[in-house]
Amino acid sequence: MEQPHPFDEIRYDKPSERVARITLARPEKHNGQTPKMLYEINDALDLAMYDDDVHAVIIAADGKNFSSGHDISDQSNLGEVRPPIMGFGGYGHSGPQGYMVKEQEIYLGFCWRWRNLPKPIIVQVQGKAIAGGLMLIWPFDIIIASDDAEFSDPVVAFGMNGHEYFVHAFEVGNRKAKQMLFTGEPIGAAEAKTLGMVNEVVPRGELESFTLAMAEKIASRPMIGLKMAKMSVNQSLDAQGIWTAIQSAFNLHHFGHANNRVIYGEIVDPAGREIIKREARASKDTSDRK
Ligand code: ZN
Repeated sequence: MEQPHPFDEIRYDKPSERVARITLARPEKHNGQTPKMLYEINDALDLAMYDDDVHAVIIAADGKNFSSGHDISDQSNLGEVRPPIMGFGGYGHSGPQGYMVKEQEIYLGFCWRWRNLPKPIIVQVQGKAIAGGLMLIWPFDIIIASDDAEFSDPVVAFGMNGHEYFVHAFEVGNRKAKQMLFTGEPIGAAEAKTLGMVNEVVPRGELESFTLAMAEKIASRPMIGLKMAKMSVNQSLDAQGIWTAIQSAFNLHHFGHANNRVIYGEIVDPAGREIIKREARASKDTSDRK
């Protein structure tokens, strides 16, 4: 069933009849997302969407952690990585203008495109999903977490509102969204389930088999029914204004980047790095003592 494709930072396979799987494959970097990885995910999702034998897709990740977020050490010139897909050009403009279109393409644009793909997409999450890591989870339909999974968006420490796909209040409710943003603290798998953000929590050793079994069950149903069900739920959220809310937050996000650029000469407040590192160390010490 393996179908090799020329990807470097992900794998694409078909682990079962009618099920495709995309696996993040940079475990040594905690699956930090480069622009190349994001384009590869987008290509692999297209492969699955245009393959009529695929009825359901799994997003998985190698290694201990699902994703540490965007790998901002990779500042590849996007126009040189790939021609734009979302219709935004102008990467060459200096200052906030050029940076905003870059994020419109590979962050907000991709997430919203993926959210609106027609086939069911299930994410299996282990370990940490930090900031941009959530942007490979929240656009999709069903979330299966292993019991060690943790979800966080600590970027308020960078003088920002949150990551670029701002659906926090829709995902965890408005009170918890404010708490997770204000404190930067992670939400564990069990709590995420009580909030309705995660569908099921399973032991780490059963994550792959449990997710595959659910994907197989979903994939046994007629494609047209699955597509209509997905669109109907998505349209319920659309009717509540989800896209308008995301765009408003994205505009503020770019006010934040521009403000940091004027004050610090870079897109984030550099003091945030120390705050986030210090708190990550402290939480590791606490969990090591347990
Ligand atoms: Zn940003």
